[in-house]
Amino acid sequence: MKSKMSECIFCKIAKGEIPADFVYRDETVFVIRDITPQAPAHFLVIPTRHVASAAEVADLAIWAAVMGRATEVARSLGFTDGYRMVINTGVQSGQTVPHLHLHLLSGRVFGWPPG
Ligand code: AMP
Ligand code: ZN
Repeated sequence: MKSKMSECIFCKIAKGEIPADFVYRDETVFVIRDITPQAPAHFLVIPTRHVASAAEVADLAIWAAVMGRATEVARSLGFTDGYRMVINTGVQSGQTVPHLHLHLLSGRVFGWPPG
């Protein structure tokens, strides 16, 4: 999945060119509220550096930053009844933004198998 970084919506959010509701930010990762929430709590955990999808990750430290931050946010927000983490990867998965992001969803019961 190719994209021009200059046009990438999550790169623009990282640079402050588009507003977003930040709940966490450091130099490697940031967490924002999803603009179209699919659950009472729906956050996106996004690496600051542009990586098009999970399939494109070369530096495995990105996984430590993204997965580690997702579970830390879940802990700090008290998602004690559970949560779901989703990483859509590529066209058939439903990925619409070609910059790696992890969906962190909570606050309702989730079905399985996923749609
Ligand atoms: P995906 O379909 O897995 O690529 O997920 C992309 C997600 O980004 C969707 O859930 C969108 O609602 C969300 N999204 C798109 N634009 C924005 C934005 N400006 N701020 C916050 N979330 C966004
Ligand atoms: Zn990007």
